[in-house]
Amino acid sequence: MREQEIVVYGAHWCPDCRRCKQFLGERQIPYQSVDVEKDPEAERFVLEKNQGKRLIPMIVFPDGSYLVDPSNAELASKLGLKTDAARSYYDLIIIGGGPAGLTAAVYTAREAIDTLLIEHAAFGGQAAGTETLENMPGFPDGVGGMEFSNLLRRQAERFGVELLQTQEVVRVYRKGFYSCVETSDGSRYSARALLIAAGSRYQHLDIPGEDEYTGAGVHFCATCDAPFYKGKRVAVIGGGNSAAEESLLLTRFADQVIILVRKGEFKATRIIQENVLRNPKIQVRWHTEVKEFIGGQSRLNKLRIRNNQTGIEEELAVDGAFIFIGLIPNTGLLKNSGIILDRWGFIVTGHALLHQGERPEGFEKRDPYLLETSIPGIFAAGDVRATSTKQVVSAAGEGSSAALMIREYLKEV
Ligand code: NDP
Repeated sequence: MREQEIVVYGAHWCPDCRRCKQFLGERQIPYQSVDVEKDPEAERFVLEKNQGKRLIPMIVFPDGSYLVDPSNAELASKLGLKTDAARSYYDLIIIGGGPAGLTAAVYTAREAIDTLLIEHAAFGGQAAGTETLENMPGFPDGVGGMEFSNLLRRQAERFGVELLQTQEVVRVYRKGFYSCVETSDGSRYSARALLIAAGSRYQHLDIPGEDEYTGAGVHFCATCDAPFYKGKRVAVIGGGNSAAEESLLLTRFADQVIILVRKGEFKATRIIQENVLRNPKIQVRWHTEVKEFIGGQSRLNKLRIRNNQTGIEEELAVDGAFIFIGLIPNTGLLKNSGIILDRWGFIVTGHALLHQGERPEGFEKRDPYLLETSIPGIFAAGDVRATSTKQVVSAAGEGSSAALMIREYLKEV
């Protein structure tokens, strides 16, 4: 065991092992994974600790203590993650601890706006899972996504923002003039204003084998899982910036990366495309769609692919596959909230809410502010917002703009 590291004893077929690893991964908590079926010494260790029973997942902490098949709440408590807010009422509640939410929190806290920020996974959002942010102003040599996220979190803490981790907001609703949220443990918090900065997540292909092999050969985060593919052959599905950038990251581990693009060209920015096409470890197959993930012994080992020009299908042997085919907004929590979304589910804000000069209900006296949703006092910023550019720096910019709009709104109420 490496020093100061959590060890997860499990097996590749075990869903609770996957759940626990997912929990740690989402919070960027380092761990070592040991497959008890491949390591007889590890199996003996698990049997010895559990009176002869092979109970997995068994998670051993750096102080030698351990938990067997813990729930996410037990894991959160063991890791000392804060899951309850100090109070039930704030000036502002921010949903989401990515660049938009954390930047807004820095601004509002500096304005003495009493702020609670709720994040269900790791601070930093998708940025935290990005290996290097090369285009962040002020960082000429780039900055690690994780490092940047930690800096933002520390900055928010310095200004006294109350940060609540591992709590998922499941519902947003209005009670009279108050904006309210309910979390997955049933807690309710209310505030005078609300900022939704819940971001977006990777889209799935929805084809046979995808769910079955997720975590067992099928992945959505190269930063998290690329190291498992040292010297191996992997496929990347998608042709946008994410697919291209993550392919480059994968080449640091895998021997061969095959990018499967359904069109005859990339959607990625030119400079990233050029880097990809120049890389000798990367092969691109155009007009290629994946139809099925196929495995043996509970692990992915090949893809069924189809050339959409010739109609020819074939099997492609791979050790792993990474899917990067776009984003879906995290707006499920807004069901029945009355907040207007666009046809892809992103939140509509500001002037886009005006129809031929007509304002939405509730805006009798003024137009919605720039980043205000169709409900007065509820704002949105970052990737969850319709027409946002999905860039870390613009998400942070929207966070600061939202904070300034919220300051104006709070003067009214
Ligand atoms: P994009 O929407 O940019 O690209 C999605 C890609 O996946 C397209 O090539 C699309 O193909 C393909 N695709 C979609 N559905 C399927 C499917 N069912 N089967 C096969 N292929 C499919 O998404 P990204 O996740 O790459 O990026 C999201 C946003 O984040 C973008 O705005 C991007 O610019 C930004 N980003 C910026 C980065 C940077 O600036 N450094 C890094 C990473 C992301 P088609 O073209 O045929 O629709």
